[in-house]
Formats: sequence, C-alpha cells, structure tokens
Amino acid sequence: MSEIEARPSNFIRQIIDKDLANGKHTSVHTRFPPEPNGYLHIGHAKSICLNFGIAQDYQGQCNLRFDDTNPEKEEVEYVESIKNDVQWLGFEWAGDVCYSSNYFDKLYDYAIELINKGLAYVDELTPDEIREYRGTLKAPGKPSPYRDRSVEENLALFEKMRAGEFEEGKACLRAKIDMASSFMVMRDPVLYRVRFAHHHQTGDKWCIYPMYDFTHCISDALENITHSLCTLEFQDNRRLYDWVLDNISIESQPHQYEFSRLNLEYTVMSKRKLNQLVTENLVEGWDDPRMPTISGLRRRGFTPGSIREFCKRIGVTKQENMIEFGSLESCIRDDLNENAPRAMAVLDPVKVVIENFDAENVETLTIANHPNKPEMGTREVPFSRELWIERDDFREEANKKYKRLVLGKEVRLRGAYVIKAERIEKDDNGEITTIYCSYDAETLGKNPADGRKVKGVIHWVSADKGLSAEIRLYDRLFTVPNPAAADDFASTLNPSSLVKVNGYVEPSLASAEAEKGIQFERTGYFCLDNKDSSANALVFNRTVGLRDSWAKIESN
Ligand code: ATP
Ligand code: MG
Repeated sequence: MSEIEARPSNFIRQIIDKDLANGKHTSVHTRFPPEPNGYLHIGHAKSICLNFGIAQDYQGQCNLRFDDTNPEKEEVEYVESIKNDVQWLGFEWAGDVCYSSNYFDKLYDYAIELINKGLAYVDELTPDEIREYRGTLKAPGKPSPYRDRSVEENLALFEKMRAGEFEEGKACLRAKIDMASSFMVMRDPVLYRVRFAHHHQTGDKWCIYPMYDFTHCISDALENITHSLCTLEFQDNRRLYDWVLDNISIESQPHQYEFSRLNLEYTVMSKRKLNQLVTENLVEGWDDPRMPTISGLRRRGFTPGSIREFCKRIGVTKQENMIEFGSLESCIRDDLNENAPRAMAVLDPVKVVIENFDAENVETLTIANHPNKPEMGTREVPFSRELWIERDDFREEANKKYKRLVLGKEVRLRGAYVIKAERIEKDDNGEITTIYCSYDAETLGKNPADGRKVKGVIHWVSADKGLSAEIRLYDRLFTVPNPAAADDFASTLNPSSLVKVNGYVEPSLASAEAEKGIQFERTGYFCLDNKDSSANALVFNRTVGLRDSWAKIESN
C-alpha cells in the first residue's frame, strides 16, 4: 500500500495490545477465511481490512484460507476471483494460499482421537431425527440411541463412513458433549457427514467432509493463528471452537473474537441473495457495477483506497447497525475529487453552431486537468464551429438564478470563449435541434473587454472532433433501505438502477484507462467500463454524482 493509512484503534486492537504487552503472544497472526461459494462483497472488505490491516500494523502475518468444506457449492472461479479481489484491495497474504481441505488428513486423525477418548460417536439417526432430538432453546435435547456405542464400534463405523459404505444422511460423526447445554451448538454437534461429491482441491479422495465448526478451529491452530476474527453470529460457536481445541492434542491455542458484520442500506450482502440476482439475470453478473461486490465496485470506478477508507470510517465494534449508502459514496467522491482528472462530456446533447467561427477552422485549446493541481498537467481540447452542449444548459427564457445559456444572453464555455445565443431552430415536435450562437473572439482566458459580466460557465464538446460514447448511469440497486427484510427482496429492485444514454466525450478520452476515475465536469465521476468498452464503441460508467442526490438538502 503506497500511502500511509493510520488506522483507528478498536476493541480487537486493544485486546492485541494487551496480549503483546503481557507476553501471551509475541507476534500476531490473523487469517481471512472466505468460503469459495461466491464473489467477495463490501462486507468481506470490512473483514479483509481488519485482518490484513492488523497484520500490517503489528508486523504480523495474515493468511488467506479458503474454507472449502462444502464441495457442492464451491467453484474454482470463486477461488480465483477472491484472490484477485484481495490483491486488488492492496493486501498480500502470508506464504501460499491455504485451504481447509489441505488439512483433511489431519482433521480425520483428530476425529479418531476424539472417538478414542470417548468424545465422538457415529450416529445413525436421520438428519430430521437429529434435529428433533436436539430440542429447542426452551427444552433440552435427548440422547441419540447410538450415543453410547463403544470406542471400537465407533472406530469401525467411522472407517466404514470413510470407505463409502454409508449412503448420504445414513450416518454422521457427532461430538459427545451435552444434550442439555443452553448453547444449542454444544448439543452433540455433527463433526463429519457423508457427501459423495467431487471436491475442487481433493478430487474424489473423500466421501466424508468435516463441518465448519470442527474444521475452522483446527485450521486456525494448525496455521498458528493467534487472533481468529469473525462476525457476531458465531458468538455461541466459540464454545465449540474452544471445546474441540481443548480435547485434541494440539499445542497452539488461537482465540476467537467476534465483531458486527457490515450492513449497508439499499443493497443486500448475503451471498445466497447475490447469487440469486446473478442466476436469475436480475443483474448482468457478479461484477455488475450495481452489485456490492468488490468486482462490481471496481468496475463501477471505486478505488481500493476508497474502500479501505470506508472500512476505516465505519470502524469495528460489536454493535449491529446499518450504514448509509451515502457514506460509501462519500469515500469515493472524496478520493476522486482529489485525484481524478477533469474532462468534458455531454450526456444529453443539443447542437450549438457558432456562426461567426470559420467552419474550416479547428482551434486547439489547452485546459488544466485539475483546477487545483497544476502537477496533473493539461490536455488539448479541440474547439470548432459546431459543438454539443447539454440540453438542460439552455433555456429560451429564464430568471436570474439560471446561470447557463439563455436566448439572447451570454455564457462562458469552460476553458474557451464567451458565446451568445442568437436564435434557435426546432423540429416538428417543438424540440430544439440547433442553437445558433455568436462568439466573442477576445474572451479566451479573459473577461469581455467592455466590462460585460458573464456569470455562467457550461461544458461542451466539439461536434466535429468529439467521440460518441455510451454512458451508463447507475443508481441504487434497490428502492428500500433494507431489501433483505422484504418478503421478496427482488420485488424491491430499482427499475431505474441503470439508465443508458448516448452522449459525446472530448477526444482526449479515447485514451482513457478502464476503471480509472475521471470527473466529467459538472456531471459526476465516471470511468471507462472494463468489459464492454472498445476503441470504436466507448462505454463509460457513472461511479457517483458530484453531490449526494439522495441527501435531504440539495445544494442546487
Ligand atoms: P454468507 O453467509 O452470505 O455466505 P459468509 O459470512 O458465510 O457470508 P464467508 O465467505 O464465510 O461468507 O466470509 C468470510 C469472512 O468474511 C468471514 O470471516 C465472515 O465473518 C466475513 N464476513 C462476511 N460477511 C461480512 C459482513 N457483511 N461484514 C463483515 N464481515 C463479513
Ligand atoms: Mg461463512
């Protein structure tokens, strides 16, 4: 990461400070453990910034570990996208990528150890019966009739499970803990189940797969993780995490800490729901710029720095809350306001003809790339007799508040001359087709000599030299702040979350780089689309408007 980003403290950092001060640990080792069953989203970014950020700041290490115990739902495509997204966010994992499946042999041995200690048994209740026997929050569970099998019998049956002699759902390995525990997770949780499924890392070697709770703590211990950070819904599972590690022969004792997950207004964060949007073609893919995925935000024009800044601003606590969408947008706006070069683009064009400008002539103007940053240089912008301006920047009549072009009045063209609207031409529908203007040749970079005051400034693109472009105007994907709470979240999709318009951009944008933010003057921040744009069919995505148009008080 190039820039220095001081990260604020939080309760987890305070715990780490204490653990280092009192010698419980001499170094810090964290991990980020995604399940490769979807693309990463902005919620994962919170966990990534926390885990990798802590490793960076304490000169420790952070592993990237694929939590791949669910062979059916996982795909190599997801593994690749996740690696890519973590690196794009600016982080580097320690050593090789880890997979929980790397530990399947060891996990099997630890399961045998628990059986030998009389702490695990093979159960032949059906999944439904197991659920029924487990009891409820109010009523204790009851023991399975298979609970008191001998060690020998359990060893033999577990071996049969592994050998493929049980059908799916006919047998599982359970920990023998406490069927009356007030923590449901402690009521003899399942440790292994039978699945005849091909695994993207281990192929067909296994037909039994370990459960998350058994796998995660052991993987942490095997990797010498010191602080295992996860979201609050795993709070109760910490009992099981500790129970497993306390009852097997493993030295390392990682500790689990929980923080609240990120919830963001006007979007959904569950991978199941995001997957549904993709498979039902409600969006154009995981990297659709309206998606809260890292790849979607990237394609939309968000920078890694803006996402890290967002994660820093939201902080890390144990309080559940809902973050305003505007706070994510303000991070990218702040970044691009500083760093994006300016350019001109007309999204809803109407023709201007400057009648006293020679039709053969094209003048090359030099315009600063950033109003406050001369170090960002200048670019050449052609000025010609025919131009495009925004339809909304012209009125036949207007009051004094309207500081744009009005019939019979003057306005300045950004970086160019003062023009005056002389007359207009309309089509049969009464729509203006052309605004005929005159220009004052003495006003390039200076005010009119006779002291005439020209207040407004509008942007423009040369009609001769400008490039046509498709411009995609993105808005929030949902119409309600909490779509996940709706009966059918897909019914709350925003029908105008994407509006495509055809406009014109200044020729310098022919060399725009995909994903790199540009401010289209007076319009918003945009970037070249990383998928659909080509040299003869430019496509730009709106990252964010110049101001928060959803904010209650509008500034214009
Ligand atoms: P889902 O339940 O939607 O499938 P998940 O939490 O199971 O999501 P994982 O791939 O297991 O997704 O997540 C990897 C890590 O990212 C976990 O440590 C998880 O706690 C964390 N994480 C996931 N979603 C969020 C979120 N919204 N805010 C913060 N951390 C998150
Ligand atoms: Mg998970």
